[in-house]
Amino acid sequence: MSSKAKETSVYVHFPWCTRKCPYCDFATEPIRSEALPHDGYADALLRELDARSEDLPGRELSSVFFGGGTPSLWDPNALKRTLAGIRNAFEEVAENVEVTVECNPSSLDREHASLLREAGANRLSIGVQSLLDRHLQFLGRLHDRERALATLEGATAEMPRVSADLMFGMPGQTCSELGDDIARIAEMGVRHVSAYALTIEEKTMFGSLHRAGKLRVAPEERYAELFEHAERCFTDLAWAHYEVSNYAAEGERSRHNLHYWRGGAYCGLGAAAVGCLDRAPGRAERWRNEANPQRYMRRQTLDCEVEDLGPEEIIGEAWMLGLRTAEGIDLSATERRAGRSPRLGRERQIELAIEHGNLVENGQWLRVPVERWLKLDGIVRDLF
Ligand code: SF4
Repeated sequence: MSSKAKETSVYVHFPWCTRKCPYCDFATEPIRSEALPHDGYADALLRELDARSEDLPGRELSSVFFGGGTPSLWDPNALKRTLAGIRNAFEEVAENVEVTVECNPSSLDREHASLLREAGANRLSIGVQSLLDRHLQFLGRLHDRERALATLEGATAEMPRVSADLMFGMPGQTCSELGDDIARIAEMGVRHVSAYALTIEEKTMFGSLHRAGKLRVAPEERYAELFEHAERCFTDLAWAHYEVSNYAAEGERSRHNLHYWRGGAYCGLGAAAVGCLDRAPGRAERWRNEANPQRYMRRQTLDCEVEDLGPEEIIGEAWMLGLRTAEGIDLSATERRAGRSPRLGRERQIELAIEHGNLVENGQWLRVPVERWLKLDGIVRDLF
């Protein structure tokens, strides 16, 4: 990277899934695969990219993440065309640029993984969620254990880097079930796992069932036991717990996510995508695109919600995101981005958090020790 180019990531949202999972509140619509506008969506993304191109000079592309929704439903040729457009839009592209595609086992096999690699992807993130059919059925997933294992086998054979998503907190889930899933996934050559607690979101089918008293959920302390058990399993594998929900073998941390947690600039493309680019020290602009995919594809201008962020918002987000990671918040880098010190106005709160062992200081870094992560929300709240 030239000394002046700013590292920038691109997030591409693919807003469709075969079926809506009952717990999911992401911006995604169910669609029959034959109705997918493969090329039409790529054309719309490239039009948006072109309209945003004046924001890109002086920036270096460090990572691209195709998320969703289910990008593995997309024709790899359309994805390839979009990726080529993104690379061309930047003056500089990092040598080790990370290109991740989110996939579901129900729409990924070895051949598809190979096409994605040819299209330019070098990392897959696969929504496994569980390797037990009982839990997969509860979550309303389209795949079963056998399909998940076959997908992982094909993906790890074709792609240099593979991550798996796991979910925990399903009713009746035991620590040993979660531990078995982690061990099996690691055995298959997966080197990164994102493990999320099942949460009941209001505007989902699970939310309605829960309100009607028709959904059994795991008690709060069960989540803590499962979280701690996962921590032990990954420690045994010598993987790093580098963010509250993310674990990685040596060298396998997600560059895209790290960039985001460090408050890096990112260009969001696609229906419902969010982007945030720095404009000057203490000033950034965040946008949120039209969420409806059909309206998004029809739009001819960059008509989107825009929010100006000032120093206080930049600092607030830096604390919230940074303290979710094992490295913590980089006070010097945050000061450069925000134009003022993130300590300002919270000196006493920081001092108290250090005294109570909730924060650890190391040069320009402040972090929450991993053993306090279950209390993270309260620790962050106390700083504000
Ligand atoms: S596959 Fe993923 S994005 Fe799609 S509905 Fe299910 S959880 Fe949501």
